[in-house]
Amino acid sequence: MTDRKAELAANLAQVEERIASACAAAGRKREEVTLIVVTKTYPASDVRILHQLGVRHVAENRDQDAAPKATACADLSLTWHFVGQLQTNKVRSVIGYADVVQSVDRAKLVTALSAAAVRGERELGCLIQVALDAESGERGERGGVAPDGVAELAAAIGAAPGLRLDGLMTVAPLAGEFAGRQRAAFDRLMEISSRLRAGHPAANMVSAGMSGDLEDAVAAGATHVRVGTAVLGVRPRLG
Ligand SMILES: *Cc1c(COP(=O)(O)O)cnc(C)c1O
Repeated sequence: MTDRKAELAANLAQVEERIASACAAAGRKREEVTLIVVTKTYPASDVRILHQLGVRHVAENRDQDAAPKATACADLSLTWHFVGQLQTNKVRSVIGYADVVQSVDRAKLVTALSAAAVRGERELGCLIQVALDAESGERGERGGVAPDGVAELAAAIGAAPGLRLDGLMTVAPLAGEFAGRQRAAFDRLMEISSRLRAGHPAANMVSAGMSGDLEDAVAAGATHVRVGTAVLGVRPRLG
């Protein structure tokens, strides 16, 4: 085993242990939570090792890095999640490799994703990114729609050809009433999810929790955690 493979294996084992413990503490089955490894800033060779180690879901946040990496790993059976702020001029590229876009936060993006999915003759999974610290009608600093904009966006995705509404995603806010209160933030996301599922029963994915707060997310009821640093190591800045 190479040094890097041994390192990633050890990190993965630790993350797995954390997820398993959090599930046990919450009385949830381990299978209820899917680990997505965020590979941004790390090379395709790491993605390849992660696949060998059993990882099947990876996430990226910038198309410029993600597109060549996904191409280099096209022979692997992986589900690619796009989790970054997405400009409409990148949509056509993202559709080429992403299975799920977790950062849908405005109607204009829905229109662009739908057109690209139809053109590419494929169905794209969409999560609405919720900015828990955004004021009504605004978007979050790191993307995301304010909670009161979720219903309208859900309707737009639900009606858009080529798109499938899968659920919600959030990043715990650094500012506002939820700053430093990850569990409360994720509980709030679960409430928004319950309301969403009343009208869209299949939209049951809840993507929340990262390296620092995955336990809070699992406790709240997240179905997917997005872990970068704890698996791959600390990124150089600007990751
Ligand atoms: C980078 C990133 C993560 C992973 O963060 P870590 O703290 O490295 O685990 C999760 N979600 C999104 C949207 C990210 O951009």
